[in-house]
Order: sequence, then structure tokens, then C-alpha cells
Amino acid sequence: MKYDYLVVGSGLFGSIFAHEAKKAGKSVLVIDKRPNIAGNVYTEDVEGIHVHKYGAHIFHTNNQEVWEYIQQFATFNRFTNSPVANYKGELYSLPFNMYTFNKMWGVVTPEEAQAKIEEQKKAANITEPKNLEEQAISLVGKDIYEKLIKGYTEKQWGRECKDLPSFIIKRLPVRLTFDNNYFNALYQGIPMGGYTKMVANMLDGIEVRLNEDYLAKKDEYDSLAEKIIYTGPIDAYFNYSLGNLEYRSVRFETELLDKPNYQGNAAVNYTDRETPYTRIIEHKWFEFGKDDHGNDIPKTVISKEYSSEWKPGDEPYYPVNDEKNGALYAKYKELADKETNVVFGGRLGEYKYYDMDAVIASALDCVKREIH
Ligand SMILES: Cc1cc2nc3c(=O)[nH]c(=O)nc-3n(C[C@H](O)[C@H](O)[C@H](O)COP(=O)(O)OP(=O)(O)OC[C@H]3O[C@@H](n4cnc5c(N)ncnc54)[C@H](O)[C@@H]3O)c2cc1C
Repeated sequence: MKYDYLVVGSGLFGSIFAHEAKKAGKSVLVIDKRPNIAGNVYTEDVEGIHVHKYGAHIFHTNNQEVWEYIQQFATFNRFTNSPVANYKGELYSLPFNMYTFNKMWGVVTPEEAQAKIEEQKKAANITEPKNLEEQAISLVGKDIYEKLIKGYTEKQWGRECKDLPSFIIKRLPVRLTFDNNYFNALYQGIPMGGYTKMVANMLDGIEVRLNEDYLAKKDEYDSLAEKIIYTGPIDAYFNYSLGNLEYRSVRFETELLDKPNYQGNAAVNYTDRETPYTRIIEHKWFEFGKDDHGNDIPKTVISKEYSSEWKPGDEPYYPVNDEKNGALYAKYKELADKETNVVFGGRLGEYKYYDMDAVIASALDCVKREIH
């Protein structure tokens, strides 16, 4: 065998495993079927702007160990996720906080805001919510529901809120402070120079082959390494023999615009029903934070995000955590456990939604089990 490990997939899971394996003196080969490294966190350089090709990625964590670990591969800027909602041209701060309530109702103090929400909840008179609409109104009242929740949610799910089950929204965070920071995380930021550079640093000195589909040449690749770390879809590994696992999908329409600043913020959510996309991402504002440097680049890149139905063959984005898919995954997992020299890891290998910090922690756990 030429290598100790063959790592299938150069996303965060695979790249961190490969980095640690090499550090421990193991020989490693990384392959990826895409023409680029970094998996879904891949950022592409367009006119000096790092474009998040597979969806906007904001690094945020409460895990100090992971935060300290990742610093060796990149310097993070001070980006704070503060999305803006655009409802038919009216702009509101997100998540729901005192700026939102002031704009919505003209209230100034937290007591006034609280009283307004309570008044609206009471007026709705809903004791047992029967669907998502009733649930949302019973949590935040009618105005916020109609302007900021209804249209967005209907576009995301492709169904009316009245026809969606109430359990989708268990709680809606309401902040009675002036705080537009979306994440409740101790650490947050974007790697300066883009995610691709960060992953390239992980893979420094490691042999990487791109445009290589492991499953198309499985026997050949299996003969190269003692052990396989597989981060592709678990159902594809078993040739979909038990059926397809389903995903929720997103479609991105990306444009390069001849102006320095399109919307003045990284994320603007379109919360009305009529605008066909759910949000617009303006990529340069991730990299430059809210300082002036962004205006040095005369162009900008925006991505409109559309919710779309997933069908087999489409890019898998979010695993569907329902009973049917959970049961199917459990069956694939049984098969996977019988493969003695293959470890299934990452969001596709484990059919699990992982934030970046969680996938890093999971890869480091895998390293501990495998190598140390
Ligand atoms: C739209 C979207 C937005 C997100 N935003 C955030 C965010 O803001 N913050 C956050 O913390 N997390 C976010 N995430 C989660 C983040 O993307 C994941 O945590 C991370 O990408 C998981 O890394 P991974 O290595 O498991 O998988 P991936 O990045 O998917 O890597 C798997 C790799 O395996 C390769 N591969 C698959 N099959 C084969 C094969 N047969 N042969 C060879 N190669 C193969 C693929 O090409 C891919 O490169 C987001 C996810 C999505 C979908």
C-alpha cells in the first residue's frame, strides 16, 4: 500500500483529518471530484472579491478549543452577521430587537416594545396554535409575522404558513436590547483571504488530486491505501441500494455588477412573498467588514438565493431531518459499520447538518480515535 490514508473529499472534515494525519507522520492522499479544494466552504476569487460559491459561510462558535485550533490556518476578521430585512422597500434590523421594534411601531423603550408584543399576542387570542401561522402570531404578534416571517418562510418551504406544522417554529428569539448581532456566539469572523486559502494552508505539503471521483475508480483507489476516510454521501457509497437520502436545496444566481456597493450589507433578506428570491448576499462585505476598504474595488458580486426542490443528481445541501430519512440513514449506517477499513465522516458521510465549528470538532475527534 502506498498510503496510510486515502481521504475522499477536501472539505473541512477531510482537510483537517489529512492535516493531522500528516503531522502524526502518516502518508496521506486527498482526492476530490470537484475541480477545487475546500468543499462547500470554497471561495472563488472574482475581481479581488472572495465569492462564497456554495452559500454564504460565517464562522461562529462558542467552542474555544476549535476557535484556537482554526487560528493556525487563517487570521479572522471582525465580521459580525447583522442581516437586514427588506419588506417591500421598508428596511428592518434582524434578529428581532429594539431597532426592529422602533422601526415597526415607533416604540422607544423595552417596556413599550414588550407591551406592544403582548398586546398583539393577546389580540390574536390563540391558545393552541394549529399551524405555523398561528404559532408565529402567538409568539410575536401579527405585525412582525406578516412583514418579517410569513413571506420568507413560505418561499423557503414552498408552502403557505397555514399549511405548515406549528412545530417548525418552537420559539422566536426576541431581544429587548439594541443588538443586531445575529449569532449568540463568543467568537465570530471570516478568514481573511477567503476560506479556500485557509483550507490550502491545512493541505500544505499533502498530495491532492482534483477532478477524481472515488466511486468511479473505487477498486483502484482502495488498493492505494490502508484506510479510507470517506466524506462523500453515504448513500452514493452504497450505490443507493436502499434508496436516496433527501436534501433541501438552494439555487444561487450570481452576478458581477459594475458598481462598488449594491446593498451596503452582506445579507439582505427579502421577506415579502412576491420577490422570488429569499435573500441577496453581497460577498465583498464579508471580507471587509464595515470598514472603508470595500469601496476600493469598483465592482461587486451579488448572489440571489432561491429555495428549490431537491431531486437526485442536484447538489446536496441540507439533510432532511424527518423520520423517513432518519430511518433510511440508520440502515445505511448499519452497512457502513460493517466496512472495517472505511471511516464515514462529515456532513455527507454522516448525513447530518454540521456547522463549520462542529465539523472541525468532529474531524478532530476522528483523529483522536484513529491516530493517537
Ligand atoms: C448553504 C449552506 C450554508 C452554510 N453556512 C454556514 C455558516 O454560515 N456557518 C457555518 O458554520 N456552517 C455553514 N454551513 C455548513 C458547512 O458548509 C459545513 O459544516 C461544511 O462544509 C462541512 O464540511 P464537510 O467536509 O463535511 O463537507 P463538504 O464541504 O461538503 O466536503 C465534502 C467533499 O467531498 C467531495 N466528494 C463527495 N463525493 C466524492 C467522491 N465520490 N469522490 C471524491 N470526492 C467526493 C465533495 O466534492 C466535497 O468537496 C453551511 C452549509 C450550507 C449547505
